[in-house]
Parts: sequence; structure tokens; C-alpha cells
Amino acid sequence: MRFTQYFIPTFKEIPADAEVVSHQLMLRAGMIRKLTSGVYTYLPLGLRAVRKVERIVREEMDRSGAIEVLMPTVQPAELWQESGRWEYYGRELLRLKDRHGREGCLGPTHEEVITDLVRREIHSYRQMPVNFYQIQTKFRDEIRPRFGLMRGREFIMKDAYSFDCDEAGANRSYEIMRETYQRIFARCGLRFRAVEADTGTIGGSYSHEFMVLADTGEDVIVSCNQCDYAANLERAEVLPPAEGGPPAVAAAVEAVATPGRRTVEEVTAFLGVRPDQLIKTLIFLADGEAVAALVRGDHELNEAKLKRFLGAQQVELAGAALVEEATGAPIGFAGPVGLKARIVADHAVMAMADAVTGGNQVDLHLQHVHPSRDFKAAGVGDLRVITPEDPCPRCGGEIQFSRGIEVGHIFKLGTKYSRAMKALFLDENGQELPIIMGCYGIGVGRTVAAAIEQNHDADGIIFPVPIAPFDVTVLPLQMHDNDVVAAAEKIYAELQAAGLDVLLDDRDERAGVKFKDADLIGSPVRVTIGARGIRNGEVEVRLRSAAESTAVRLTEAVGVARRKVAEGYDSVK
Ligand code: ATP
Ligand code: MG
Repeated sequence: MRFTQYFIPTFKEIPADAEVVSHQLMLRAGMIRKLTSGVYTYLPLGLRAVRKVERIVREEMDRSGAIEVLMPTVQPAELWQESGRWEYYGRELLRLKDRHGREGCLGPTHEEVITDLVRREIHSYRQMPVNFYQIQTKFRDEIRPRFGLMRGREFIMKDAYSFDCDEAGANRSYEIMRETYQRIFARCGLRFRAVEADTGTIGGSYSHEFMVLADTGEDVIVSCNQCDYAANLERAEVLPPAEGGPPAVAAAVEAVATPGRRTVEEVTAFLGVRPDQLIKTLIFLADGEAVAALVRGDHELNEAKLKRFLGAQQVELAGAALVEEATGAPIGFAGPVGLKARIVADHAVMAMADAVTGGNQVDLHLQHVHPSRDFKAAGVGDLRVITPEDPCPRCGGEIQFSRGIEVGHIFKLGTKYSRAMKALFLDENGQELPIIMGCYGIGVGRTVAAAIEQNHDADGIIFPVPIAPFDVTVLPLQMHDNDVVAAAEKIYAELQAAGLDVLLDDRDERAGVKFKDADLIGSPVRVTIGARGIRNGEVEVRLRSAAESTAVRLTEAVGVARRKVAEGYDSVK
């Protein structure tokens, strides 16, 4: 591709509305342009990177035995009503009405559509296992679209759905996808980690997120330094505290006036106790019922764990009115002693003695509360967010926190959709059973953004070879020097003939401008042809990831550049 005949609108200034570096660089490198909030046009360079990711995804999905289809973006409401999600999906689902008043939505995901297809077409165990996938545009009306392609409203996703006759088959399909995802992200040239993710009410460890490791990632990954345990923060389990015998019983409960002290900080400072001596009482509304969840003052409640523990569909923190109704006091003074609502407690709470709690009365707290003596918990379990001080839940080893970007997610669905939508099949004995499903997503645009987040420097993008828009940029520095231009043209033609994606910067621009743009758009290999070098029969080859460039004979330039690109691919195989 010749720069002058292409479209790469680069610019220098850091765009004001782009917070993260991948968003800034994708704008500056002329890869994307915003149309409206969370909706982008892919410019040629951005599209090339996206297509490279898609190609790797497609090759590996095909290799895994999955079958490509393409489903519609617009979906009828009826299917979502059948699955029950019309009610539950919330406002990320962009609902619309056609001219006949029929309701529908823009697909944020395709479980309903694929299940509808399968229930019409697949009736026998002989037709399974099968895994259908597509690469298609999704729409989610995200509450805070930001970070460019990282969290858009309209975005490209690869989504796949597997259908099996039994648990063993479903587990096999899941494992095949897990291995396929490992290959996909490795082939993209990314440093990543598969972590256990929350499965909602399904349970088990049948959900993994694939996280690209980057300090700027939105997600926190918990991993063990000794064993291979890794989970996202939401999911990471906390072991119950070691049995140290029952805690010593404290003095009798005593009420103490705490005028205007509501928060952990205010109450502990006022009473001169540590946060780990306080019991936090949080009132939730779980499927319509008020529930009090207790965690130690220095711990944080984990809503996903609470939801799973309660087996609830919906859990939300109660508002002021409900807190008053349930506890008799305004927010900040709730406590478990004498509370009518159902109480669930984190393990660590039940190991406390001599605790401070709210007194269920305005401006009142209780001291010397002894959990098992002074209140009963209907359930005790792992309800809190893990901390760096906690041991690994698998081996007891030391854990580590790091940051990542979720680029893929695999999930065992079970029979949730097949039961609701009656996707049934006949097994070998003629018995009618619901099909067992799995679903598997990859954010294609987000993968490109994550790659940039992980691989850049102050000058621009450092693309991993497999997903770079161009493998090589050829830079003739003096467009009026015939020898320079002739050498550049020759190298350009030969690299192209060798099957590489090559950008020839044939603009009549100053060398400085060309270098800056080459750094910005980040082709892995750069071949620079300058007037002085060419007199000695030499050009320069430089890796974008390395500081120095090497002088090579003009006759060897193509060979060296090809080898460097090939090494870039080899290193990720
Ligand atoms: P998140 O937690 O980041 O909102 P999710 O868990 O809702 O994502 P999934 O339903 O698992 O997303 O979708 C599969 C993949 O699609 C994700 O792993 C991610 O890579 C990508 N994806 C999801 N939402 C977006 C978005 N708003 N913009 C870009 N990519 C997205
Ligand atoms: Mg996800």
C-alpha cells in the first residue's frame, strides 16, 4: 500500500476526550473515528488490525470444528420474552418498535436466536455435538461507553454456542473452546491469562475469562505465586479463618451513643476501636426480600458472592426507606442484634468476639457484641472480596493482584435456554431431553485495543506482528533522490511479492514527519532508505520494539525484513 493512495489521518495532539492510551493512540494513528457515543467508524488501518484478529479467530474456530453462521442484528422481542430476559436484561438492551408496532431489540448477544434456530433444526442426538459461531456486530447500550473500542456500544464480537446431549459432552465442548481460546490469544501475540470467573447461580468453575495483562486494565486478577490458581476479583474464593477454638466471650452487650457517626471510619475513630473490631451490616433487597449481610469492618462485601449464596436472581443494596423499615433506624446504624430480617454473615464475622455493631436506633451503636451469643445468622459463608493478605484458596500460598482486560469469556450455560425455549432432542433411548449449551465470546475490537494497551511506548503503538495492520513500513527519506526512490520501490515490490503487508511511505514529507508517523502506527519492522546510506549500498532495518537500527546491504534488506517478520510470528506459535 502506498501512503499517498491510502487514508491514514494521523495527528499529534492527545485527544481531550480519550482517557486511556489505546483510545488516544487509535485516534492519533488514524485507526478509528467516533460517530457518536460508543459508536466508531473503523478507518483502513483500524480495520486491518480488526481483520487480522478476525482471521486468527476464524482459523482457530474452524480448526476446533465449530461452524460459522451469521445471525441478524435485529431480534424479535418474543424470543427474549420466552427466555425471560426481556424483563431481566435491563437498559443495555436497546429496544425498538417497527412500523407495525412489533417490539424487538438490537442483539447484545445471541443465545435466544441460536436456540431458536437449533430447536427448529436439531432433534436428535445424532446431530450433536455442534458448535455454531459468528463474527458480528453487537449493540449494548452501555451506561458509560468509554475507552474507544474497549467499551463501545456497538462492537464486533465473535460469539459461539455449543450444543451437547449430556454433561460429559458439554464439558468436552467447553474444554475444546478453552484450548482454542488459548491458541487464539497466543497467536495474537498477547500476554494473557485465563482466570476463573463468576458463574452466577450455575456454580462450579465452568466460566473462564481471558485477560490480557496490562496495568491499565479495568479488571483485577488474583493469582497464586505457588500454584496455577487464577481468578477474577469477583470470583476469587476466601477460605474460612483457621479454627482457633471459639472466640472468648466478651462482657455483656452495652449500648453507646454515637451521635452522627455512621461510617466505619467515623464509628471506629469515635469509639477508639479498629475497623476489624466492627461488624458492618448491609441491608440488601434480594428478589424482593430484605436481607442483612454482615462483613467485618475492614472487609468489603462481594455482591456476586452474596447473590450466589442466596441463590437470588437480583440483589441490590437497599435504599434509605427500606433500611429504615427493616432496621428502625436510618442508614449507618443497622446491626444484627434483635434484627427481624434474615441475616447472612461472612465467615470472618462469626470468628469475632467483642465487636461493635449498629444499634438499630438513630445515633446508637452496641459494644461487646459476641456473634453466636447475641444474634443468629441464617447462613454463614464466603461473602467478601479477597484481600492481598488472604491465602490462596487452593494451596494456601501467597496471592498476588494484577490488572487485566477481559477479551474473551467462555461459559457453560447448561439447560437454562434450552429448557425455557424448549430446545429438546431425542436421545439414543428415544427419551426427550433439553440440549446442554455453552457460550463463548471474544471482543474483537477490544482485543486490538488491549494489544495496544499492552504494547506501546511514548512514541506510539508497538504492534505484535500477527495483528499489525502492516508487517513492514518502507521509508524512503528523500523523495527527490532517484536512487532512494528506486531502492524503496524495489524493496516494496519484493516484500509484497513475498506475501507481506507493506506500507510504502511515499509522501513528500520531511524525514522527521515520516519517522514520527511510522512510530505512531507501529509496524513491527521498518526499512529506512536514506541518500547517504544508499551511496554505500546500505539501508537500515529496525524493529519497532527495539531501540537500535541495523545497517544492512541493500541486497539483503528484503531477506532481513522477511526474517524479522517471520520471527515475530514464530515467537507466538
Ligand atoms: P464486560 O464485563 O467487560 O462488560 P461482559 O462480561 O458483559 O463484558 P460478555 O458478555 O462476556 O461481556 O461478552 C464477550 C466479550 O465481548 C467480552 O469478553 C469482551 O471482550 C467483549 N465485550 C463485551 N462488552 C463489550 C463492549 N461494550 N465493548 C467492546 N467489547 C465488549
Ligand atoms: Mg464477560
